Amino acid sequence: MIRKLLQKVFKRKKTADTARDSLTQLCTIPVKSHGLHRNQISSCALKITQELQKAGFSAFVVGGAVRDLLLGLEPKDFDVATNATPEQVRSAFRRSRIIGRRFRLVHVMCGLETVEVSTFRGPSPENTHPLSVNGITDQHGRLLHDNVFGSQEEDAIRRDFTMNALYYDPATEEIHDYLNGYEDIRSETLRIIGEPITRYREDPVRMLRAVRLAAKLGLQLDVKTAQPIGDLAPLLQNVPTARLFDEMLKLLLSGHSLACVVDLRARGLHHGLLPMLDIILEQPLGERFITLALKNTDERVLQNKPVSPAFLFAALLWHEVLTNWNSYKEHGEKPSVALYKAMDNVLAKQQKNLSIPRRFSATIQEIWIMQPRFESRAGRGPFRLISHPRFRAAYDFMLLRAESGETSAEIASWWKDFLSASQEQRDKMVQSLLSPTKKRRKRNRRKSASNKIDVSEKTAS
Ligand code: ATP
Ligand code: MG
Repeated sequence: MIRKLLQKVFKRKKTADTARDSLTQLCTIPVKSHGLHRNQISSCALKITQELQKAGFSAFVVGGAVRDLLLGLEPKDFDVATNATPEQVRSAFRRSRIIGRRFRLVHVMCGLETVEVSTFRGPSPENTHPLSVNGITDQHGRLLHDNVFGSQEEDAIRRDFTMNALYYDPATEEIHDYLNGYEDIRSETLRIIGEPITRYREDPVRMLRAVRLAAKLGLQLDVKTAQPIGDLAPLLQNVPTARLFDEMLKLLLSGHSLACVVDLRARGLHHGLLPMLDIILEQPLGERFITLALKNTDERVLQNKPVSPAFLFAALLWHEVLTNWNSYKEHGEKPSVALYKAMDNVLAKQQKNLSIPRRFSATIQEIWIMQPRFESRAGRGPFRLISHPRFRAAYDFMLLRAESGETSAEIASWWKDFLSASQEQRDKMVQSLLSPTKKRRKRNRRKSASNKIDVSEKTAS
């Protein structure tokens, strides 16, 4: 009986090893082949790898930076992987702190730069197969913790895509490639490591990362990597909303948000993420508006101009607010009350799925609330509006609405003129919009005021 059991265990372990052997094969690529030199690595990442190596640890630049540099792009940030534990890294660098719970790592700061240093991860002890449901998972196979340390090879297997698992050693300028990632860089193919369904179940956010990285880097999604995404989309509902929000923000600020949203939609990944996005995109005005907003954002990101996440979310949800607003008005609500109710409604729905942080939701609401004020332009209204701290965002938002045909082009051009006009011209512009009766009343008021002055002047003399 025991022998039979042992045989079974042995057989399973062997299968696992075979699977792993066939999956990983270390290939060391010299600098003369890949052409990535250490002077392309940030000084902070260089300093960290050097210090750790001096202390007897191994340390590599890994992930997005190696991938982007090999693709000829400028990396957004640098990540380092090491066999030193978070505590050892923490004590090696004065300006550092340990962060994360599900995945503990260390942030090391040099000047304004922050580098993420992670310790090699391995499979948890109860699992023999590195590609089985790893670590501690929920009922859907989602990893709840990922803090078991392992070898460099095990660390490679646990990363998401083959091209994100390339380890660059700045000392030797060599790349360690366990999973054929370098070949995938050359053929511009984004390929998930291991069995796609298991890997997406472990962490459904990998589906969003696949869409974002493919769009941002102009890569092809490998067929097996792409195939299960549509079916597994509902798993995103089990991801903590704060993490989803961060991931969506990365996607929307990637400089390729339009391509990402189109692809999200094509793969059915937007359901439950930006609920209503499919409904919105099917309305002719809504689709045009969102397309313009995303295009505008992409252009700003690519020109290194600042982009406000609040503006973006305000745009993505605007047509939902409009629909709600109209329906409250039809039910007899006053327009201003109806707008507040509509905003509350839409944001409450989003809170469940995306948990938009409070600091953004306040600005989103301000942008929305100011929209009707662009229409009533008589009196002191326009002067009060331009002195609002969020005027610029609300104004840009109104221009987008006009460009999409939702509000009139005449209003947009009036505001453009108003902003470039002198104080005197502005007064005239506002005056000319007053109705004839109001103008007459105003003139009469002025007349009687000057009469009063005349009388008092006479009395005084
Ligand atoms: P970028 O920083 O340009 O958005 P990146 O690939 O560097 O892209 P990070 O979030 O900085 O993304 O992650 C660094 C590395 O950590 C990745 O390259 C990948 O190796 C690994 N990684 C990140 N997220 C996951 C995940 N969900 N599952 C497995 N590995 C991941
Ligand atoms: Mg990165």
